[in-house]
Amino acid sequence: MEKIVNFIKKTFNTNDFIPLHEPRFIGNEKKYLNDCIDSTFVSSVGKYVDQFEKEFASKVGSKFAIATVNGTAALHISLILADVKKDDEVITQPLTFIATCNAISYIGAKPIFVDVDLDTMGLSPDSLKNFLEINCEIINNQCINKTTKKVIKACVPMHTFGHSCRIDEIRDICDKWNIALVEDAAESLGSYYNEKHTGTFGKVGAFSFNGNKIITSGGGGVIVTDDETLAKKAKHLTTTAKVPHPFEYVHDEIGFNYRMPNLNAALLVAQLEQLDKFVENKKELALKYDDFFKTIDDIDFINQPQNSSSNYWLQAVVLKDVKTRDEFLEFTNKNGMMTRPIWKLMNELEMFENCQSSDLKNAKYLEERVVNIPSSVIL
Ligand SMILES: *Cc1c(COP(=O)(O)O)cnc(C)c1O
Repeated sequence: MEKIVNFIKKTFNTNDFIPLHEPRFIGNEKKYLNDCIDSTFVSSVGKYVDQFEKEFASKVGSKFAIATVNGTAALHISLILADVKKDDEVITQPLTFIATCNAISYIGAKPIFVDVDLDTMGLSPDSLKNFLEINCEIINNQCINKTTKKVIKACVPMHTFGHSCRIDEIRDICDKWNIALVEDAAESLGSYYNEKHTGTFGKVGAFSFNGNKIITSGGGGVIVTDDETLAKKAKHLTTTAKVPHPFEYVHDEIGFNYRMPNLNAALLVAQLEQLDKFVENKKELALKYDDFFKTIDDIDFINQPQNSSSNYWLQAVVLKDVKTRDEFLEFTNKNGMMTRPIWKLMNELEMFENCQSSDLKNAKYLEERVVNIPSSVIL
């Protein structure tokens, strides 16, 4: 334990407390923010929102990007774009941040949990295929859950800590079963699967720019899609469904006030300029961690899965001996650095304990053993 703490202090070159993930503002952040304030356009309209949307779409290789107030809002709207309605069902993974399941619940839909793969920590195509073959049938071009008689409208895989799940296989299975693929790419900006950016495999994808993510706008999110009709609908729904008019207030459906303020977009334009540098820095840190943990018994560093390039947003290790986890957490947190266990499984939370699920043995294994270690970009 002592050896691990010393290695991390040496790597981050400090004796001060080392947080899990700190934002870095070392580019044009202040310049663009000042410009934004001077322009007086700090709120819901302004050039930085437009500029950010254009530059983000180009960065990830999607046709359209629609900025939102946070990642949860981006997911909520993405699910609406995928035609998820009240009483529908949505397949996702139990090993995720609560926002994935909150967004599904805002619509009045219900999550179904299928297992993850051990190497990617993301939704397992094998588990998905199995679940569908055993429990579902196609009736009138819809995927019907034989147990509940409800329609399974969408599937939301998540790229855990920036490591890509087997998204191409998942897409093929979803296509076969007429299920819309909505990617929760909140953690995976800068991550690629077979050289295609995560978040761009399905109908829609959602990203987050919360304070702890690889780049941040304080709070923020974005929806990406290649479908122009969906892009227009996303803009409309996130801007209170107001019919464009120079002065009249007419709204043609119940919309949301989910737009990203120009002030946040200004910060984000500067952050996006530095994304490649941040990813490179995190990859270097991952190499150092990997080398180091090879010398430690029973602790494995989690490397990027095959066929992918990871942003290594949060670095993680697996403590193979489950009994050592709490000791590891206590020792490191007491000795000047933040470490944190992976999330409690969603199906174990009170709100979701009655949801249908597949066998979740991989998710359970990881829940008990995975710990995040300091991951900030090193200056
Ligand atoms: C961060 C995150 C979100 C969105 O979070 P916001 O804080 O609303 O921006 C969604 N899903 C996952 C998996 C996340 O990590």
